[in-house]
Amino acid sequence: MKYCNNCKQLVEPRKEFGWAPFILLAICTLGCGAIIYLIYHFALKEKTCPMCNSDNWGVAPTTTIPTTTIPTTTIPTFCPNCGAKINSEDGFCAQCGRKI
Ligand SMILES: [Zn+2]
Ligand SMILES: [Zn+2]
Repeated sequence: MKYCNNCKQLVEPRKEFGWAPFILLAICTLGCGAIIYLIYHFALKEKTCPMCNSDNWGVAPTTTIPTTTIPTTTIPTFCPNCGAKINSEDGFCAQCGRKI
């Protein structure tokens, strides 16, 4: 998949063989042009967009998914000994000194 700058979306690139210029070149140049066209088509020609037929390829804009920052909520814990509200980070009760 490639990103088309014209269509502003990801499309499956395709390489379409142009029969009209191929035959025209073959007739006009008595075969030589047809070979040149074949080389051009398979070696040089860029794949085109199936929607707009252009080869205006670009880089798909990276959709940055906003990282939802989970707020770290400090759940108030209460001391089983005295019932005082204690900070879990402390590891002990400030009221009675009991270890949590
Ligand atoms: Zn396109
Ligand atoms: Zn306590």
